[in-house]
Amino acid sequence: MNKKKTKVLMVAAEASPLAKVGGLADVVGSLPIALNKLDCEARVIIPKYRNILEKEFSLKKVASDILVKIGKRSLKVNLWQTKNAIKDTIVYLIEDNKYFIEKSVYEQNKPEDFLFFCQAVLTSLPHLKFKPDIIHCHDFHTGAISALLKTDQFPGQKNIKTLFTIHNLRFQGKSDPKILKLINLDEDSLVSMVRDAEDGDINLMVQAIINSDLVNTVSPTYSQEISSKKYAAGLEKIIKANRKKISGILNGIDIVSFNPETDRTIKENYSLKTINKKKTNKLWLQKKLGLEEDEKIPLVCFIGRLYSQKGIYLINDEIINLPCQFVFLGTGDQGRESYLKKMAKKYPKKVSANIMFNLNLARQIYAGSDMILVPSLFEPCGLIQMISMRYGTIPVVRDTGGLSDTINPKLGFKFKNFSTPSLKNTLKKALNLYYKNPNKWLKLQKNCLKKDFSWGLSAKKYLTLYKKLAIKK
Ligand code: ADP
Repeated sequence: MNKKKTKVLMVAAEASPLAKVGGLADVVGSLPIALNKLDCEARVIIPKYRNILEKEFSLKKVASDILVKIGKRSLKVNLWQTKNAIKDTIVYLIEDNKYFIEKSVYEQNKPEDFLFFCQAVLTSLPHLKFKPDIIHCHDFHTGAISALLKTDQFPGQKNIKTLFTIHNLRFQGKSDPKILKLINLDEDSLVSMVRDAEDGDINLMVQAIINSDLVNTVSPTYSQEISSKKYAAGLEKIIKANRKKISGILNGIDIVSFNPETDRTIKENYSLKTINKKKTNKLWLQKKLGLEEDEKIPLVCFIGRLYSQKGIYLINDEIINLPCQFVFLGTGDQGRESYLKKMAKKYPKKVSANIMFNLNLARQIYAGSDMILVPSLFEPCGLIQMISMRYGTIPVVRDTGGLSDTINPKLGFKFKNFSTPSLKNTLKKALNLYYKNPNKWLKLQKNCLKKDFSWGLSAKKYLTLYKKLAIKK
């Protein structure tokens, strides 16, 4: 019997490899692959940014001059399509000549740009030759979609259900209610649209939580944490009021792309059976970064945005002075960037500061390091600890959100208090094990390499949510 597949359109601001800034792109670029192996047909739609090259991804224009109503005007958009970016998945790109085409991801993008994107997505639906049962929205950028579906602007799409995934509650897309005019709404059009915040702003994250049929976060622990003031980023009342429809599904990673056995960007491929070859990558990395070349010195890395969320302010001279080498990769707060550069200048053989976004170098660091630090203040899921384990690199993490859900003592080290002494003690424990007990260290590495972080299980959980939605009246 040919079962009817659930049709899902994922809407997001980024999708790897077309456009990536952070973990959101990894998720939107890999979850559909797993879903399309199940009872599901998943497609993706994102804005067409300046640096998405038509040739590189064999983009084809599939519709031209679609008129999107934006305030009193109409703006023409074109619809592009590719199957060559995300495996076996059709990706649509909306091309406009005002909001996105001159920018790369999040480059000066304002909430109103994303209101336009939401309006353009819903206006373009009839041109897709694909009628989704579910629109799966990701983060505040897509927050207006569920609200718009409740208006009379898109009568043909009334039956579509919505799932909204929160990847980071901190970024909410707050703005003056005046911008609602852009999507042909006003302050009174929707009950929830304006009066969601005490300050009178409209808040796209809140709109999505209120108006979507179901909501999830990207790990079970984070989905619980956000009920408390400490983690709710000001939205605890909204979260509590909508608690029943919020669940948590842990992210997976793309284990085909992140695979030390086949990764072409690293110096020497290795696997569980040939783990001793990991050290070639370490020595190569030490040389490349100008660090002392010695396989015995533990190499500790930090990859990610250099902002307070990521716990980068916990790393101070006390940490830097521990008996190991450090490699940092990331951009962010200027103060942190200059601190790391200063440390690298002071200790060139011990500290390497790479203030940049570089996907290949990230992979080389995952492969060449012994440990990765993830001391986050909060972490909705966190992919870096999973990617690093895939490369046999041991995580030292703060016990929060997805880090709590993915790390146990057989895989790495966790600390509770968000403080430098806690981080220091835990890193010292890890270094101690590294120096004093190589067999136990090897066992940890092997456990990490064996661990399955693929999307299989989580994709099934998403499908269960979709199916639950599809039968909802
Ligand atoms: P975020 O909160 O930024 O989404 P995640 O851990 O979920 O954090 O995902 C971060 C993703 O971005 C990972 O794939 C990581 O390798 C990548 N990444 C972060 N910073 C950099 C950088 N400076 N260069 C290359 N890749 C990076």
